[in-house]
Amino acid sequence: MYQFSRSIYRELAPDIIEEHDGCANHERVLRSCELCVERLATDWHYFARPTKTLFNDIRIYFPMSAQLRVYKTVDRYMTFARDYFANNPVAERLDCRATTRRGTPCQRTPLPHNGYCPSHQHLAETEDIRQQLAA
Ligand SMILES: [Zn+2]
Repeated sequence: MYQFSRSIYRELAPDIIEEHDGCANHERVLRSCELCVERLATDWHYFARPTKTLFNDIRIYFPMSAQLRVYKTVDRYMTFARDYFANNPVAERLDCRATTRRGTPCQRTPLPHNGYCPSHQHLAETEDIRQQLAA
């Protein structure tokens, strides 16, 4: 899924306004792209205007002269990503990986980056610790 946000970012990156103190703008643009793609992947039914949302988030990091190009790039990728996720439901989004206290599988929608729903995020953390101990 992150290939989408990476691709948008790569195409937009040359136009991002550089700041004196490094690459903060680049990080903000990449983060906005990731959030938007994540939302499209998990919630595209309710995400009415992905192009407008992402464009409004990131347009301040681009000069006037690049605005039209940025809008077209965002629109092309958001339209493509929306179609893609509508036709290929993301596997991780189906159910949370945790088991409830009653022993049944948790059926809440998980966060895409670790497969646990918001109320089971602590399990992802202990999983990390277990992996570190096993390593
Ligand atoms: Zn859960």
